[in-house]
Formats: sequence, structure tokens, C-alpha cells
Amino acid sequence: MKAIVFDQHGGPEVLQYRDVPTPVIAANEVLVRVRACALNHLDLWVRRGLPGIKFQFPHIPGSDIAGEVAEVGNLVSDVKVGECVMLAPGLSCGHCQACAAGADNRCRKYTLFGYLADGGCAEYVKSPAANIIPIPSTMKFEAAAIPVVFLTAWHMLITRAQLQPGEQVLVLAAGSGVGSVAIQIAKLTGARVIATASTDAKLAKARELGADEVINHSQKDILEEVKRLTGKRGVDVVVEHVGEATWAKSILCLAQNGRLVTCGATTGFDGKFDLRYLYSRNLSLLGSFMGSRSELYTVLKLVIDGKLRPIIDRVLPLAECAKAHELLEKREQFGKIVLKV
Ligand code: ZN
Repeated sequence: MKAIVFDQHGGPEVLQYRDVPTPVIAANEVLVRVRACALNHLDLWVRRGLPGIKFQFPHIPGSDIAGEVAEVGNLVSDVKVGECVMLAPGLSCGHCQACAAGADNRCRKYTLFGYLADGGCAEYVKSPAANIIPIPSTMKFEAAAIPVVFLTAWHMLITRAQLQPGEQVLVLAAGSGVGSVAIQIAKLTGARVIATASTDAKLAKARELGADEVINHSQKDILEEVKRLTGKRGVDVVVEHVGEATWAKSILCLAQNGRLVTCGATTGFDGKFDLRYLYSRNLSLLGSFMGSRSELYTVLKLVIDGKLRPIIDRVLPLAECAKAHELLEKREQFGKIVLKV
């Protein structure tokens, strides 16, 4: 089969489009003919290499996968050849206490397609039957744009920060996958949303998604604008995934009892802040990692019902994966970049 693979870490140039063996499934697995695979910031980290994490080469990236079932193992029931599906991106042991509690994202063996397992930037991918989620046949590309960002944003705002109607939320980087979904989830909850982005074009799109107020962070100071827009009160929740570049100010944007929830640090890991604000304002700092498979069913239903929508910046052929990585690195996109397989 054709696939995007890399044999060493590095820039986008290490990504090769070439022939590799088609995966062979075990009796409890399913072979999926991939039709679409969306990129995430995680793909960039995996390609560049992460300290302490050893990847098997050649590695096939890609965590957000949709397609149809090509082959089913002998022990698999309830999955049919030809069925349109998306793959729950998280792979877990299935029988530890966290998995049993429906919190597979807290399983100690948790990993993702495209991370410590081969991913969906290929014509075929093998998957445990438990990760197969049926979708309407009309939504292949949209489905690939759902799993990682919808799970992440839902888990951040609803499960971790417990956002309430009437609260105020600051969503950083509205043009990112997580940002474009967080705006929608916050609006669906009944919150007032302040979104930031680097260009007026992205801010206009953020407004289309429901942002009540927008801040162009290349022209204005986020903290000063948040103070102005909230009458010096601050916001109840900050959706962080930028890290070092924004961390200290994100904390200063919080009102009394505010919650900062973070799922990443795309500009760097060295976040500093003044501890006095943490206790004197009763703040909470919340980490959030992916989301459970159960939460994925929830967001999928909301997408099918038209309450939330995947935001696709553009669709490129699989062979142009390196170009897609470059686009993601320049942060020029609004929403997801999807590779068509
Ligand atoms: Zn487990």
C-alpha cells in the first residue's frame, strides 16, 4: 500500500510517500481502508521527535482517521465490511481500573494512532475492534476532522473546567483545531466567548463560529483587552494550548475562582507565573489530556445533530503530507488540514 512514512526525525522533508506492506490484522482487529486523515499539532511533535520517547521506524503518522471497513478479524462481531467508520484515536489496555471506569485516556498504556502505533497517513490501518465507531456515509472528511480536537476541547471545557452557562471564556488561538471547536462548545454551553487570533481574517471566522468578542493578539495585548471587555473582572475559564508565550498572562486574565485548562504548549514548555495570584484569587490550574471514548460518542452525536461542526481549512492529497506539515507549522490554517487518501 501507499503510505507516508519516516525513518528518522526531522523537518517535513523526512516524510516520504512510498510503498510499505499492508498491515495484517489479528483475530480481534479490523482493517480500515482510510479515506481521510486529519493532521494535528501532535503530528509535528512526533515527526520532530520527543525527548525520552522511542519511535519504531519506519513510522506512519496520523491520529484522526475515517474510512470504511475492509476486513474483519474472526473474533470481531458487530463490525461489517464496507461500513463507514471513524477511529477513536486513543489506544488503551481495555481492562485496567481507568479503562473500566470509562476513562481510557487515563490508562497507563494509553497511546494514539500515529503516536506509538502506526497511524492513518496510509491506504490502510489496522485497529482494535473497540476503536471502530460507525458514522453516516456522507461525512468521511468531516469525520476525520473530529476525533482529536473535539475530544480535547470537550474534555477541557466540559469535563475538566466544568463550564457553566453565563460564564465568560477566553479561547486562545481561534484558528487552531482546538480553538475553533472550543468556541463552538463554549457557545453551546451558553457562555460568553472572547477569542484571540493573529489576523483579522481569522477573527472574522471566529465570529462566524459564535465568538462574542475577538482580540487580534498581533496588534493588541490580550490581558488589557480582556480587562476592557470584562469590566476589569477577568474571565472564568481560559482555554490554553499555547504555553510559554501566553502562560503568565493567561493566568492574569482569570477572575476570582477562575480555571485555566491546558492541553498543550505549542510555543514551549517553560511556563512561569506569580504564585500569589493562584491562592489569593482561588484559581485552579487544570491539565487535560485527550478525552474518553464515551466523550467521543457525545461529540459525534452533537455533530450529526448539527449542534457542532468540524472546521476544515483545506483537503490535500495524502502525497502532499509534507506540504500540510509546513502549513501547520506556519499556523496559516483556520481549522483542520485533512489529507485525502
Ligand atoms: Zn487501561
